[in-house]
Formats: sequence, C-alpha cells, structure tokens
Amino acid sequence: MSLTAVFPNVCKEGPASMRASTTIESTTSRTTGIQTAAYAAFDAKSPLGPFSFERRQPGARDVQVEILYCGVCHSDLHTVRNEWKNAKYPLVPGHEIIGRVTRVGPEVTKFQVGDMAGVGCLVDSCRTCPSCRRGLEQYCQNGMVFTYNSPDKHTGGMTYGGYSTDIVVDEGFVLRVSNKLDPAAAAPLLCAGITTYSPMRHWKVTKGQKVGIVGLGGLGHMGVKFAAAFGAQVVLFTTSPNKREDARRLGAHDVVVSKNAAEMAKHAGSFDFILNTVSAPHDINAFLGMLKLDGTMVMVGAPEHPHPSPDVSTLIFQRRSLAGSLIGGLPETQEMLDFCAERGIVSDVEVIPVQRVNEAYERMLKSDVKYRFVLDIASLRK
Ligand code: NAP
Ligand code: ZN
Ligand code: ZN
Repeated sequence: MSLTAVFPNVCKEGPASMRASTTIESTTSRTTGIQTAAYAAFDAKSPLGPFSFERRQPGARDVQVEILYCGVCHSDLHTVRNEWKNAKYPLVPGHEIIGRVTRVGPEVTKFQVGDMAGVGCLVDSCRTCPSCRRGLEQYCQNGMVFTYNSPDKHTGGMTYGGYSTDIVVDEGFVLRVSNKLDPAAAAPLLCAGITTYSPMRHWKVTKGQKVGIVGLGGLGHMGVKFAAAFGAQVVLFTTSPNKREDARRLGAHDVVVSKNAAEMAKHAGSFDFILNTVSAPHDINAFLGMLKLDGTMVMVGAPEHPHPSPDVSTLIFQRRSLAGSLIGGLPETQEMLDFCAERGIVSDVEVIPVQRVNEAYERMLKSDVKYRFVLDIASLRK
C-alpha cells in the first residue's frame, strides 16, 4: 500500500530529512536548540540505533515536554521499514508520547511546568479547513503534520517523534493527562487508544450491540476494552489460540479463532459492528459475512500490501458497509483520555529500554505483543 494513498497530505518530497538534520546541526540552532538524544532508523533494513539532534526552543504557544514513555506502534514498524513508501531517514519514530512539561511559552494557557502531558500522532494542521474547524485535524484538507516523518515548517526538515528525550509542540496539539493514570500504561492511549475509541464513537457502539474486534495486538486490545466499557457484547477474532484467556480477561465475552471455520460459522450474520485492526493483508470477506443487516466493518489496520478485494455481493445482500478510520482529532483524543481517567482504562504494557526496540519489532511481527511495548525513555538519558 502506498501511504500517500491512505494519507494523501503526506509530503512526497525528496531527501529533505538528510538536509534537515544537517541544517539543524550545522547552522540554524547549534547554539540555541535543545540537545535531544534519540533512537533512529537510518535506512529501511538496518536496526534502529542512537541518534542526536536539536529541537527548537519553545515559541510563544509551545510546550516543551520531557518524554517519560513512548509506545511502540505497528505504524512505527511500517514506516521505519518503508512499507508505506514515504520514509525519510534518519527517522525517529514514536507517536504515543507521555511526559512532563518542563517549559511553556508566554502565551500558553492550558499547561504549567510539572503537568503530565501527552502527544499523539499529530503535531500541527492548517487549523482553518472544514475538517480542522470541526476538530477533525486528522482529516485536515491542507496537510496535517504527523509527529514524525512529516515536513517540519520550523526546521525545514522532517519531524522527529517520541523515541527521544524531549519534544516541543504547539499547545493546541498537546493533551492533558490525568495523574490518576499510570504514565507508562497511558502512553498507548495516544494512538492505539484513540484509533479504536474514535470509530466506536462515530458508529455509536452502545449497550446491547454485538461488536467484533479482529486482531489482539496494540489496537485490538484497546478495542476490546472500549467495546466492553461501552456495554457491548464483545467477540474477539484472533489467529492466536493462546490469546483466548487474555482476551476474556481484557473484556471479551467470546473468542473466535478465525482460521476455524466451525467457530466462525456460529457467528455468521450476527454483528452490528466490527473493528478490524489486523496489520497484514487477509481475506476480509470472511468478516464482512459476520455482519448482520446494516452492519458496518471499519478497517483501521494499514498493511503494506492491499487486502484481496471484498466480494460486493457480501455487501449488497444485507446492506453491509465497509469503512475506514484514521486516529482521532484533538478534542476527541482529550475526551478519550478523560474517559480513561474516569474509568481507569489503560493499556496492558511491556515496558522496555529503548535499546530493545529492534527485538520488540521482531516480536510484533510474530503477533507476540502483550499487548503494547512501551519504551522507558529514561534509558536514553543514561
Ligand atoms: P500489532 O500490535 O502488531 O497487532 C496486530 C495484530 O493483528 C496481531 O497481534 C495479530 O493479532 C493480528 N495479525 C497480524 N498478522 C496477521 C495476519 N497475517 N492475519 C491475521 N491477523 C494478523 O499492531 P497495532 O499496533 O495494533 O497496529 C495494527 C495496524 O493498525 C497496523 O497496520 C497499524 O499501522 C495500523 N494503525 C492504523 C491507525 C489508523 O489511524 N487507522 C492507527 C494506528 C495503527 P492476533 O494474534 O490476535 O491474530
Ligand atoms: Zn500508531
Ligand atoms: Zn485543516
């Protein structure tokens, strides 16, 4: 899959990142920037390794955050390995960022030094288009700025993400995080959380509905938790029989091993809503057939290669819908974080030092994640 097909506003420019890092280090801000230690990918094939660069000093409306934890999303892996064909190296991934505010610009109103703060997948957008005005910055029609691997108007290079010690972001794109939430376990809410919460809110998942979640990884396990919190009857579809018990503990009422035709047949035509989080191409017809009349399946997984095309007759007979959804806007991300604080919802995480991120990627590819790796950024400060 070409990422530009999915995210059309992503810049397609040439080797800007290389110019960017050189520019930052050699001219603009050698004396004034914030020295930042990081882990970066230098090409699509080699392991990630140490890197350093300079962040801009906070401007009037900027918040500087000392990063404590950063989740490892499968999108990091797709991007680093250039599966979406848009990677610019060096590339510092990470968009599930939790940290503590260390400095604020003079016009900042929402944050004070010492506050917990979150940064998700976006650090800017045009703020004037119809989508932005509705708080749907993820669908900005003039080019939203992703937290990493996006053109950065401040440096002229590319944005660098959360596998790093500090970040500076306009306060409009920084989220408030309750002290009630464990910061490491809350980090994945900034992507895995909002990406599953948003479609369930949009398609109005509610008590009494039957909801399927496909794939029990970072996104899937949050999907199970939210669907259960919204009062739905939750069924997990998995390719990993050994995840049955965990799925029930996370809130699933039933678990179906999707490769088992007899187990699948029992649920045919019975779902109001299915959220498909799978990171690899697969036969989506099998899941469309699980929907009842007027049911919807929303795709959030964004694999490197396309899924085999669905059979339209499966859609036509029962008026089923197939849809997609991208993360969530800033207001809804704040709503989700507040909902999580109120309900005590966080991710199940395995906290690791940054130096183990390459191993984490390999385990993620084997569906061996329980259920989100989170980098302890203190390991970059040693
Ligand atoms: P993840 O933790 O690796 O989970 C993916 C899960 O998919 C696996 O745990 C596995 O679950 C299942 N799976 C993997 N390969 C499979 C295959 N060949 N056939 C069937 N099932 C398979 O990944 P993630 O971080 O949750 O991300 C999932 C996808 O969503 C990625 O493509 C990511 O880029 C995308 N994403 C999209 C958005 C958005 O805004 N739309 C946001 C974030 C991430 P089981 O073991 O249970 O089968
Ligand atoms: Zn993500
Ligand atoms: Zn916009």
